[in-house]
Amino acid sequence: MVTVPVECPYCHSTEVIKVGKQANGVQRYQCQNGQCARRIFLLQYQDRGRVPEVRRQVIDMALNGSGIRDTARVLRISPTTVIAVLKKSRRASPRQPHVAASSSFTRRPRLGRMRRRAR
Ligand SMILES: [Zn+2]
Repeated sequence: MVTVPVECPYCHSTEVIKVGKQANGVQRYQCQNGQCARRIFLLQYQDRGRVPEVRRQVIDMALNGSGIRDTARVLRISPTTVIAVLKKSRRASPRQPHVAASSSFTRRPRLGRMRRRAR
C-alpha cells in the first residue's frame, strides 16, 4: 500500500481533511490552515476552469494585456469562465486586501451579445 499525502494547491499545507464528495462522487478536501485563501478543493477537476494553475494563468494573461477571448482560446476555457475568474480574483487574491464598502465601485453593464439583425 502506498500513501500519497494530500496537499492544498493554494498554500501547500498537508493538514488537509476529507469533507464529503461532489455530486459526481469525487472526494472533496478541506485545508485546515486558517490563513489559506481557499478551504475546499479537489485533487482532480473535471473542469479546466477550476484548476488553480489555469486560473492563475487567466490572471497573468489579463495583467499582460490579453483580452478575454484571447485568454479563453489559449487556455481552452470559455470566455464566460475567464470573466468569472477575473471577477473572483479581486477578492480571492491574498496580496490585495479586500476593499470594504468601496462606494466608487459601480457595476459595469454586462458584456452582452452583439445584436444582429435577422434577414
Ligand atoms: Zn490551503
